[in-house]
Amino acid sequence: MKALCWHGKKDIRYDTVPDPKIEHPRDAIIKMTSCAICGSDLHLFDGFMPGMEKGDVMGHEFMGEVMEVGPENKKLKVGDKVVVPFTICCGECEQCRRGNFSVCETTNRNKDLADKVFGHTTAGLFGYTHLTGGYAGGQAEFVRVPFADVAPVKIPDGLSDEQVLFLGDIFPTGWQAAVACDIQSTDTVAVWGAGPVGQFAIRSAVMLGAKQVIAIDRLPERLSMAKAGGAITINFEEESVIERLQQLTKGKGPEKCIDAVGMESHATHAIDGLYDRAKQAVMLETDRPHVLREMIYVCRPAGILSIPGVYGGFIDKLPMGALMNKGLTVRTGQTHVNRWTDDLLQRIVDGQVDPSFVITHTASLEQGPEMYKTFRDKLDGCIKVVLKP
Ligand SMILES: [Zn+2]
Ligand SMILES: [Zn+2]
Repeated sequence: MKALCWHGKKDIRYDTVPDPKIEHPRDAIIKMTSCAICGSDLHLFDGFMPGMEKGDVMGHEFMGEVMEVGPENKKLKVGDKVVVPFTICCGECEQCRRGNFSVCETTNRNKDLADKVFGHTTAGLFGYTHLTGGYAGGQAEFVRVPFADVAPVKIPDGLSDEQVLFLGDIFPTGWQAAVACDIQSTDTVAVWGAGPVGQFAIRSAVMLGAKQVIAIDRLPERLSMAKAGGAITINFEEESVIERLQQLTKGKGPEKCIDAVGMESHATHAIDGLYDRAKQAVMLETDRPHVLREMIYVCRPAGILSIPGVYGGFIDKLPMGALMNKGLTVRTGQTHVNRWTDDLLQRIVDGQVDPSFVITHTASLEQGPEMYKTFRDKLDGCIKVVLKP
């Protein structure tokens, strides 16, 4: 089959690889109908995330038709249309039973390595480094789904791929980030980063009843999409984020702050941005936490910082004094996708939200390597890419 494979920094290729096979009785093989490039794939593309090996199949946001089912899988039938969450979960361990699917204790095949790096293992993820199990991803014609009797979400007839594809990652990720904010009707929610996850965090915060939602980015096309979703916008290249947030909250600061940027934040005019880039370049720091520092500084005391943005390793110069003395709560984590999918699918069926708004580019799988560049460099107004095998 054909697939997009990682070969090193900035080197994704459209390769021929062996077809996946049923390896365990609970598996299923899915024939891809649509897949997407996620912002966190760019951390692999740019070489910021450790644990990739040459030839790894990329992709963790995908859907398709069930082609083959293992003999112990009672949930799926050949021909079912499914969205596959990026978190692989067993459904049986203590964390899965608590709904903490992204920290499933059993699905990471490289548990020992993850235990060493993070202290504990987290779930296996599709197409996302050997630290999370080294599973082949879904930017391919076919994919093997382990524990396929747990996570895949069956899609009712009458919905397009574009409406439901993002249930596998960015929609529940933005939603979980907003839910983690415990939004009250008097709250201002500020969202740093109006990329795909930021867009869903914005719309989720609006759906959850925030008084005002503020989007911070530098790209006009992202800011206008955020505005269409109900946000007030701040372009951080044109104005001071901190001053504008103070102004919009009568000097009190937003109660809830969402970091939808993660480890590669830009800090155009800030001294700390130069510091982080220099330290990162000589491997003394893995991630650039400019957004985190800014959130800690501006968040209203007793507020919540919600972090769906991906971080990989270590950061420094984090203002712990401000974090502690202001009594801020930090909530973070990979998305517990299946905790939210029933509710979100119903909202799509009811017409409350149509996630396809975020798609700016559709291309063939073969055009994938080119589309990684277009997406990474935000060329041609690119916000979200869908690929069709
Ligand atoms: Zn993702
Ligand atoms: Zn589990």
